[in-house]
Amino acid sequence: MKTLVSPAIVLRHTNYRDADRVVTFMTRDFGRLSGLARGVRRSVRRFGGRLDLFSHVELTWRPGRGELVHLESAKLINAHLGLRNDLPRMAWAGVFSELVERLFQPDEVNAHAFDILAAVLSYSESVTDYEPTVVRLAGLHLLSVAGFRPELRVCVRCRRPPARHAPHRLDVSRGGIVCHACVPTGQAIPLSEATLDALAHSIDASLEELADVSLNPALKRELKDIFQAFVTYHVGEPLKASRFLAHLEAGDEPEGKASEAGDEHGGRNVSAGKRGEEGGAGEGRMES
Ligand SMILES: [Zn+2]
Repeated sequence: MKTLVSPAIVLRHTNYRDADRVVTFMTRDFGRLSGLARGVRRSVRRFGGRLDLFSHVELTWRPGRGELVHLESAKLINAHLGLRNDLPRMAWAGVFSELVERLFQPDEVNAHAFDILAAVLSYSESVTDYEPTVVRLAGLHLLSVAGFRPELRVCVRCRRPPARHAPHRLDVSRGGIVCHACVPTGQAIPLSEATLDALAHSIDASLEELADVSLNPALKRELKDIFQAFVTYHVGEPLKASRFLAHLEAGDEPEGKASEAGDEHGGRNVSAGKRGEEGGAGEGRMES
């Protein structure tokens, strides 16, 4: 059978049998896929550490008969090693990769979404002043790419541009702002003018551009609720990875250490205890 090649990022992995691992990738050219890496936990010969969480590789595989492809090889593009000793950055990488997985169907090819994910991981591992606001803005960009772009220019009820110096709210279920004269239909989040302006300017910006934007305190504060509410609404439930992040932000001591990231235990915990609750270590969760 024909061999396929694409840039790919490891979204998650689960142990399978004694020495194998099922690895799920977002590929740039073929959507999402999962493959069985045989013997990967016993020998580093074939894949080395290249199938660790969030590794960016050039992946070669052959389609399989069932849901799993046959992984042939992985050439490292970026291991994102800078992430691995920093729990908050790892937690955010977990949030972002889960968001990618939840927003796109396995056969949905979206190179733009892949590039945003790759940019978030590169940003997260390389910047000195890590700013979750930048990642939240990139998350809204990702939602836009998935077809859930918030309407920020006109009121979603009366279709008029909102008056200046009047209070605005973001109506989550209607997907945009509601002016002071209209009544929101569902959950509405107060929005300052500064945040509205900043969002309108930054929602399509690249990570490089965002890293240069001066983020005002109102934006940082309000974007927390906006991101959470938008993601929960469109995904249908809170992300599992965001629970781990919430523990971190609350100052709890989470299980697992960032330095263990990439091995199966650290990887599972650090990727936000992500799927850790659905099955014990070693249990495979196949794509359905
Ligand atoms: Zn209105």
